[in-house]
Amino acid sequence: MHPKDLPCPDFDGLNLDYYLSPDLTLPIYPARGCYWNKCTFCNISQYENAYLQKSVNNVVDDMILLSHKYNCKHYYLSCDALSFNYLKRLSKLIVENKLSVSWQCETRFDNNITESMIADIAKSGCCMLRFGLESASPRILEGMKKGIDLDIVKSIIKLINKYGIKVSVYIIADFPGETHESINETKIFLLENKNYINYIGVHLFELMNNSHIYNHPDEFEGVFINKNGKPEYINPNLDRDTIINMYDEIISDLYSDICIGSIPSSNISSNKFINVDLIDPSTLEKNNKFMFSKIIQENIPELDIIAGQNISVHIPTGTVWIDSQGDDEQL
Ligand code: SF4
Repeated sequence: MHPKDLPCPDFDGLNLDYYLSPDLTLPIYPARGCYWNKCTFCNISQYENAYLQKSVNNVVDDMILLSHKYNCKHYYLSCDALSFNYLKRLSKLIVENKLSVSWQCETRFDNNITESMIADIAKSGCCMLRFGLESASPRILEGMKKGIDLDIVKSIIKLINKYGIKVSVYIIADFPGETHESINETKIFLLENKNYINYIGVHLFELMNNSHIYNHPDEFEGVFINKNGKPEYINPNLDRDTIINMYDEIISDLYSDICIGSIPSSNISSNKFINVDLIDPSTLEKNNKFMFSKIIQENIPELDIIAGQNISVHIPTGTVWIDSQGDDEQL
């Protein structure tokens, strides 16, 4: 179904008190597919062969309806990437309709982003923008076909910070061609710009079915056809444990102010790390997640939890995800 034909999401019958965010945050689906659609590791075109958008009028209508029905003021525009042109048009309409909302979404470090676009977006209540930075090694970015210029990235995140919007970036560890040098380039970039980046999610590279890399293994270092006739990837430069440890160190350096405990190397795909020794485990009431997020806020006020933010909390038995977008829990 085309997103323009999708009705407003219906949350009737769900206990919205179970959402983990301090304030209710609801998803709205503004688009399907990706307008960039070139990243070599991504297989979005396998599932969505066209980029289809809901009109900004429909998104604003959804916000109005959801705010009346559920008294919701926070929205997550849930799709893989929205362009700044779309966000600018949406922001204008939110302001024209005098909606008092906050919202966030995933987007791209496009080269045409201007300060006035960011100012408009901030005025309409944007609280966070999430970007796939993936790496700060120009060589790796070229292999990914991300279309990202690191100098432009730096100026964009500074401007976003200037207008009070939080910045979240995703990193892919162990992309084909990853070396000590490329990890260090990413580390230096993140450290140099850490004042403008609020959240970082590091994910290990996975060879996805029907991505460009999967279909062109000979173009990528370490990708080969295995004995079952399937493309497989093994980094010839570094083993996975070394790579995980290197990224763990980067995260520790970035968050040394709040990260007191060690980070389990099996889970580097987290946004922020909290030393749970600060929290009495007996207060972790499994059925009272809202209370849990309150406990974290009270114990670690510098975390500045906002609606819709992902936080992972490492505790001896595993990881608890505080995620207003879903109800994931791994205890
Ligand atoms: S990784 Fe993101 S930006 Fe790149 S093609 Fe996939 S959805 Fe689009």
